[in-house]
Amino acid sequence: MTEYSDIFIFPLQYLEKTKIFNFSEFQAFDDTKPSSMLGIEIIDIGFDVTKIPIENSTEDCLFFSNEKIFETLGLYTHESVTKQGKIILFKKCIKEYSKRLKEEYLAYNSITDKEIEDIVYKIVLWHEMGHWMLHWFLDKNGNRWNNDTYRYQNLDDIILHEGIAQTFTCLTIQKAEKDGYNFTKLIFELMCLNQSPQYHKHTEIMKHINFSELSFLNAICEIRKSLRVPLINDLLNNL
Ligand SMILES: [Zn+2]
Repeated sequence: MTEYSDIFIFPLQYLEKTKIFNFSEFQAFDDTKPSSMLGIEIIDIGFDVTKIPIENSTEDCLFFSNEKIFETLGLYTHESVTKQGKIILFKKCIKEYSKRLKEEYLAYNSITDKEIEDIVYKIVLWHEMGHWMLHWFLDKNGNRWNNDTYRYQNLDDIILHEGIAQTFTCLTIQKAEKDGYNFTKLIFELMCLNQSPQYHKHTEIMKHINFSELSFLNAICEIRKSLRVPLINDLLNNL
């Protein structure tokens, strides 16, 4: 069996290994810079985890795009396809949104406001990391997706990008759940309620008969090499 490292280094798995996503050690709501919270065991697997550009924004939360909540609470933004973008997490929006979740769905649950906030923060981070990985992560040949076929413009492009970002999020949640974070999956499912169809595409991807983490990563490597802008079916056909 081929190892991940042969195909595509899988940062979510790696980050988990380094305990960045361990609840107790995760300092997401501190104002410390991300790189300082990564000051733990760094294993040389070919890339520097401290270079993932994550920014905590304290901008006021002016509006909610209720059908695109993942892009309201966070963003992956870049100036051009040939430049690495950055992940921005809107802490005030996350706090506000978490409060709504608590009131609407979790009022009679034992989970605290802060716990909900931390989980929402992590889920949004994983989603945006999915966007970042799709764009910038190196495959085994040292390629990124920094050419003309990287596009986030039409609904077809958006379906592909969001489907992949959500799949990365789900894969990470599955790992987190194994560690006993039982509310993570529930909160993700609540976040997906009433979202536009592109935020549900991960179910189609993950239910595909050929789906596995490895085939998914491989398929991403393949579609990034496409000579035309790839569609979700190209991803599915490459699984
Ligand atoms: Zn997204």
